[in-house]
Amino acid sequence: MDQQLRERRALEHDLRFAVDRGELYLDYQPQQHRDGRIIGYEALVRWRHPDRGIVPPGEFIPVAERSGSIAQIDDWVLVEACREAASWDRPFRIAVNVSAAQFRRENLDAQVRMALRETGLEPSRLELEITEGVLIEDVSRAKKAMQSLKSLGILIALDDFRTGYSSLSYVEAFPLDRIKIDRSFVASLGQSERSLAIVRAIIGLAHGLGVPVLAEGIETRVQMSLLIEEGCDEMQGYLIGRPQRDAAVGSRFKPRVPSLIHSAS
Ligand code: C2E
Ligand code: MG
Ligand code: MG
Repeated sequence: MDQQLRERRALEHDLRFAVDRGELYLDYQPQQHRDGRIIGYEALVRWRHPDRGIVPPGEFIPVAERSGSIAQIDDWVLVEACREAASWDRPFRIAVNVSAAQFRRENLDAQVRMALRETGLEPSRLELEITEGVLIEDVSRAKKAMQSLKSLGILIALDDFRTGYSSLSYVEAFPLDRIKIDRSFVASLGQSERSLAIVRAIIGLAHGLGVPVLAEGIETRVQMSLLIEEGCDEMQGYLIGRPQRDAAVGSRFKPRVPSLIHSAS
């Protein structure tokens, strides 16, 4: 316990200076349409710690949320992702993860407007990824927040979509541009009939509401073919491309499995 606490304190301390010291950077993971075209990239933050090496977001985002340094990190990520995407020579979509704390902020729309203005990024190229947890905390506030974000002309995706809390009416209540199927369902596709049934249900539900679906965490060709067969619109995962640092990624990335996608669609 003691050791864990000390460890967390040390991380909290170092995190406070991470942005100012330029220790954060973004990796970009490609998102592919079922027809094989790369259509966008998700920005994933990493922390290059001077002693610990690369710390993944799963480790430091929760610490930052508890210690209050999340706001500074969120601001940096948003502007940096917009700035890099604006410099790509093709107009790919850029997806940015929004933390729970960031979504709760009163001025998120102003923050986004400023990032767009500062970087010159077309609003229609920016997609914010939010998780369902933040939506159900306070449904009416979340609806208002999403409407003011939408009025800026940006897109909103629901990240890590599971069947947990979600119900048809709940998904319908929000102006979503995309639903991202959680990778836990994708991981067992091809092995479990249950996962296939769940994925089929999610795609059916989303399409019934006119919302496209992106599946995350695709690692195998079997998973990809099954998803294409089920009508999944877009895909992301190691099979298509790992998150990579290259800021010019937008212009250079070549899909690795276009022939498979073309033949299956
Ligand atoms: P996420 O938004 O669901 O991001 C997808 C995660 O799945 C990423 O992990 C990515 O590297 C990983 N992934 C992608 N394809 C595959 C695959 O084929 N197989 C497997 N096993 N994993 C795959 P990462 O980069 O460690 O990020 C973890 C989480 O941290 C993200 O989940 C997101 O919730 C959060 N995060 C990342 N960047 C940011 C950020 O800039 N701001 C905030 N607030 N949260 C972030
Ligand atoms: Mg995400
Ligand atoms: Mg996700």
